[in-house]
Amino acid sequence: MTNALTPAARASNIPPRILVIGGGYVGMFTAQRVLKHLKRGEATVTVVDPRPYMTYQPFLPEAAAGSIAPRNLVAPLRRVLKGPNAEVITGRVVSIDHGRNCATISPNTGEPYELSFDELVVAVGSVPRTLPIPGLAEHGIGFKQVEEAVSLRNHVIGQIDLADSIKDPALRRKALTFVFVGGGFAGVEAIAEIEDMARDVSKWYSNVEPEDMRWLLVEAADRILPEVGPELGVWTAEELRKRGIQVKMNTLLNSCVDHHVVLSDGTEMDASTVVWTAGVKPNPVVEHLGVPRGPKGHVDTRADLRVVGLDHVWAAGDCAQVPDLAKGPGNWCSPSAQHAVRQARRLADNIVSALRGKPVQDYVHKHVGSVAGLGIGKGVANVYGMKLRGWPAWLMHRAYHVSRVPTFNRKVRVCTDWLLAGFFRREAVSLASFENPREEFAVVAVPAALPKQAATAAIESGAGAQRGEKVATAGV
Ligand SMILES: Cc1cc2nc3c(=O)[nH]c(=O)nc-3n(C[C@H](O)[C@H](O)[C@H](O)COP(=O)(O)OP(=O)(O)OC[C@H]3O[C@@H](n4cnc5c(N)ncnc54)[C@H](O)[C@@H]3O)c2cc1C
Repeated sequence: MTNALTPAARASNIPPRILVIGGGYVGMFTAQRVLKHLKRGEATVTVVDPRPYMTYQPFLPEAAAGSIAPRNLVAPLRRVLKGPNAEVITGRVVSIDHGRNCATISPNTGEPYELSFDELVVAVGSVPRTLPIPGLAEHGIGFKQVEEAVSLRNHVIGQIDLADSIKDPALRRKALTFVFVGGGFAGVEAIAEIEDMARDVSKWYSNVEPEDMRWLLVEAADRILPEVGPELGVWTAEELRKRGIQVKMNTLLNSCVDHHVVLSDGTEMDASTVVWTAGVKPNPVVEHLGVPRGPKGHVDTRADLRVVGLDHVWAAGDCAQVPDLAKGPGNWCSPSAQHAVRQARRLADNIVSALRGKPVQDYVHKHVGSVAGLGIGKGVANVYGMKLRGWPAWLMHRAYHVSRVPTFNRKVRVCTDWLLAGFFRREAVSLASFENPREEFAVVAVPAALPKQAATAAIESGAGAQRGEKVATAGV
């Protein structure tokens, strides 16, 4: 492949721009490595993301369980991507004009504007794969973002607070019923870690025992945690059941209107909490990026991580279908951090090679296995064919992820969190009011002479920004 620089960039003295859409796993690690290779002024690396930070998603369950402070599992993009060649924009790329090599960026506030590029990286990741289930949009919550993990933790502890303070058995039962849909990595780790936390926390409540809580994992297939293989999947289901977590396989969520959960096997219950972790699909923004897509909507990508038919455009991670050369023809890489970080490395090296007119290489990686945390001292792992359960797996899970979380600073902070939680136990407090910080002030700030409706309106306007999330996690 020849030098990928556009004629415009070659003709001018302006350094070429490598525009990276998305500052997640692929986006941040690719930009970081390209910046490391570049000489001053050789190119500008611009990363655009609506969030000013990258989220280390495998730590979300531990953040929800209070073992890691939420701010320690995010890496601030401007701090990681520094130097004269780096640029970070907080906003969304909404469309691409490939004829003019221009991206339209919509900042979080203000008018959209255009930015030209010479090389483009599409790394917009995935979104939850949802179904039109009645009540899900109103009452469900996803588990892909740090905000969701924090909100879920506050909500679960808030429901325990509530159950401890009321007498009505039906309301108590509803408050203490937690349903998780989807038995992959995210669902299993989330329910296992949060149940472990709730059991721990219940020691501080005089009216709530662990047996009062109902934890239910619903999975459409006949197995859970396929990432660790069938044998360990069966073992994990048994371990969860021993802890009192109901695991229902071959079962679907049919409805959750008004927090009334109905399952395909006929089970019905009122539940304060419905967490949706039933798989992911490519971020729908790729439909507007003028790139070819595969049968399931992923960006159609070659093994060298170039987008099919577009020499200046690259893609990787959850939004792309990258041929899995280690598995053979017809296979694509799974949406996982394991592939995302390694694809980022290959992508960065290929872009720098392309800029310098050197040959690029194909991405090849043989999946090494998976580790999952199931609560403090509990885990499961299948790495290089080595199957571990319980403590050894949990230690491997922690050692592996702390070695992978970006920046030395974050590694130290995460280890410190673990150490402190080990000595002083996890905090058992719900800070749900963080989601609506103006409520109390708005009430006192309204002059006493105004009618009650004015005070209500003041609260409404202040709470507006958070209303979506509040409704999503609304209690009984
Ligand atoms: C709870 C949980 C646990 C997990 N655990 C594991 C694990 O143990 N092992 C493992 O291998 N994998 C795990 N994964 C999967 C792994 O985190 C993902 O595969 C990985 O994050 C994919 O990286 P990515 O860069 O493709 O997407 P992401 O990391 O999601 O990054 C996409 C970025 O694009 C940004 N973006 C979206 N739209 C736009 C736009 N229009 N313009 C600009 N930017 C945009 C987003 O804000 C985001 O920052 C887990 C996932 C979850 C949710």
